[in-house]
Amino acid sequence: MPARRQPDPERPRYRLAVTVDLARGVVDGQLAVRFVPDLPTDRLVFRLWPNGPRSAAGGSRLATGRVTVDGVVQASQRPNPTTLVVPLGRTQAAGSAVEASMAWQLTLPSRPTNDRLARTGDAVRMGSFFPILPWEPGAGWRLEPPTSGFAEASTAPAADFVYSISVPPGIDVLASGVGQGGTWRAYGARDIAISLGHFRTATAKAGPVRVVVGVDRQVGDDPQAYLALAVRSITDFAARFGPYPWPQYTLSITPGLRGGIEYPGHVMQGPSTANRTTPHEIGHQWFYGMVGDDQGRDPWLDEGLATWAEARFLGNLQASFAHRSIPVAAAGRLGRPMTFWEPRLGIYYAGVYAQGAKALAALGLADEVDCALRHYVAANAFRIARPSDLAASLRVVFPGADGTLRRFGGLP
Ligand SMILES: [Zn+2]
Repeated sequence: MPARRQPDPERPRYRLAVTVDLARGVVDGQLAVRFVPDLPTDRLVFRLWPNGPRSAAGGSRLATGRVTVDGVVQASQRPNPTTLVVPLGRTQAAGSAVEASMAWQLTLPSRPTNDRLARTGDAVRMGSFFPILPWEPGAGWRLEPPTSGFAEASTAPAADFVYSISVPPGIDVLASGVGQGGTWRAYGARDIAISLGHFRTATAKAGPVRVVVGVDRQVGDDPQAYLALAVRSITDFAARFGPYPWPQYTLSITPGLRGGIEYPGHVMQGPSTANRTTPHEIGHQWFYGMVGDDQGRDPWLDEGLATWAEARFLGNLQASFAHRSIPVAAAGRLGRPMTFWEPRLGIYYAGVYAQGAKALAALGLADEVDCALRHYVAANAFRIARPSDLAASLRVVFPGADGTLRRFGGLP
């Protein structure tokens, strides 16, 4: 087993100030980021995910102010609602640092929305909410279109975040990383998310990991039910795939959400999800959080593997996935990007989540698949992996893995 990779020492470093004004329904932000590209580039690109079709339809909007690069104001362009391009007027050399900063303002939806940006009374979900650098080391800017589905269609490199969250008095905060005195720090995280509400909380340890569950007062669920499931899931996946990478895991339960939405170190779930949703989203802490992928290009790398983790935890791999029949239009198309699934969202779950778990089950013994996935995590931690990276780790245990993945369409 290789030693686990560590985050790139030259990863982006974000500083954010986030001020939530519930009376006005807006969140004001200041962003500063130090970025060191590993390839030359003549621009900076930020993705503005709240302007994607699903969030925009809910009433969310992300506006940005003037962008300053290395102390100089730069003109920027908006080729589409989710993309902000800042031409540098020069070529930034690989390995050299650039500093960018801007003010931004997020308009929260005024009504409940089944989305990562949502508000129900004082309960607020803020995911994919600020301008973020969609850089894939070794490949450059990722410009995939947003999806109207529940899925995200984004990628971002592991980064460090130091961020302050200012909220009205009496509002509780759960977020990515570890918070103290209103300032949160998240290390080696490719994104951060924040939930606000009036939380009944329950806390426990899963080995070295502090687990905090908060249930908003508009939801009747018992935080202890989620806590027990979260502790067992983190402990189980640490044994299968290697240790959870951060000191804390926080989970918010807020109204108006079906299922769950994963962010590094913080997950948002809706009411009545102390079920398979809880281990599934914790599976994403390994597959998406720690080992990243481009969710627009290779959605199966995180959804198929999180479904595998969920099934292993619940013990229903054979009964629910290994022999599952996949709709004809999805069968053999596991590796297709979100642009393929966008007009086929009705078969997306079967084609990507279920078929991903089925493809892994077809490799051989489930315990040996777990072992290969542990290798994949160690070799690709804090990276953005591709299907070829997964195949390389699977081949360590299953020499014929490429052929099996090809049969499902997971490799070209
Ligand atoms: Zn998932």
